[in-house]
Amino acid sequence: MEYWQPLDTTETATLIDWRRALHCQPELSLVEHDTQRALHGWLSGMGLDPVPVGGTGLACALGRGETGQVLMLRADMDALPVQEHTGLAFASQRPGKMHACGHDAHMACLLAVAKRLIDHQDQIPGTVVLAFQPGEEDGQGAVKMIRDGLLDGQWCGRPELAVQAALGLHVWSKLPTGTVSAVAGPIMAAVDDFHITVKGCGGHGALPHQTRDAVVAGAAVVQALQTLASRRIDPLDPVVVTVGSIQGGTTFNVVAETCELRGTVRTFSPDLYERLPAMLTELAARTAQAYECTAETVYRRYAIALHNDADQVERVARAAAGARGVVHVDRQMRMMGGEDFAFFAEKVPSCFFFVGCGPLGAASEPHHSPRFVVDEAALPIASEVMLRAVADFFA
Ligand SMILES: [Zn+2]
Ligand SMILES: [Zn+2]
Repeated sequence: MEYWQPLDTTETATLIDWRRALHCQPELSLVEHDTQRALHGWLSGMGLDPVPVGGTGLACALGRGETGQVLMLRADMDALPVQEHTGLAFASQRPGKMHACGHDAHMACLLAVAKRLIDHQDQIPGTVVLAFQPGEEDGQGAVKMIRDGLLDGQWCGRPELAVQAALGLHVWSKLPTGTVSAVAGPIMAAVDDFHITVKGCGGHGALPHQTRDAVVAGAAVVQALQTLASRRIDPLDPVVVTVGSIQGGTTFNVVAETCELRGTVRTFSPDLYERLPAMLTELAARTAQAYECTAETVYRRYAIALHNDADQVERVARAAAGARGVVHVDRQMRMMGGEDFAFFAEKVPSCFFFVGCGPLGAASEPHHSPRFVVDEAALPIASEVMLRAVADFFA
């Protein structure tokens, strides 16, 4: 039989067992030790030889390796600091931690792909590198794996295993099960984080003229930042500026000396990615200055925008169209969310695609929600799309 055929009932049951076992033992970014151990056990049991890469990540290679073609498949591993409220029998057993983004499903789907590929290794003329990546949610895991030589074969001391193309997927609860989305170009935004400290001069709440109020200046900075998106940047160039946290002052009758703002910036275009830090820093400083305060900005970068390669996207779209249970292949979805698969896609032609996991006819919870659930019927579909894309790559 060809290795890209739909998963049978036994394979599907095993896939779901893996997913549930991972779901009840979630771990946060870059400390996925138990997850790494579990994956290592399952992969070794299949006859693979997984190697730690990027700290708590794992990589292994399979295939005949005769053609020199090397394709990487990636699954992320980390969970979130969320208290689960799904009521599922296999809900998180770790208080305050939950696989609320579906990375448990990604690992299980890649395990199912691994099992199928290793069982038909003689049909793989080149090499498939399986990458289990830690720390996606904090945006550091992909870079750590790249530094450990994941893309250039150095992770296993074999430069001939330099990766030529990469595929990754995300289950997506706002798409119904049976929909797959594969879109070329920039599909997910760059993720930045800013922390602004507004400083004034505190004093008596009844004698404001003797103070310089950091809360009033901070409020003005929040308002001013909204004009970046609404007045300063081309409306056709997507951007988000969100202030997610504002903290200032201690009590009702004291004028605050400092006010701290934290927020995030999302952009697609390289031009805005370059310009935004200076624009935001300067706008905050000048606005605070108008209130005789100062504003200092610390600007941090998490992930760059994720650009999908057109050829790899067509490969996934063909794979999805042929997979059992796929009723629609979306070619348009883009979002301002971020994804550190972008660092792989920056280096090698890649496709990151979405697999609908929203139960048909039911309202789905968003990712990162304490009530987030995955329709497990989506999982064999995801694995089959991946398998068909592998076959397409080697065809
Ligand atoms: Zn997430
Ligand atoms: Zn995620």
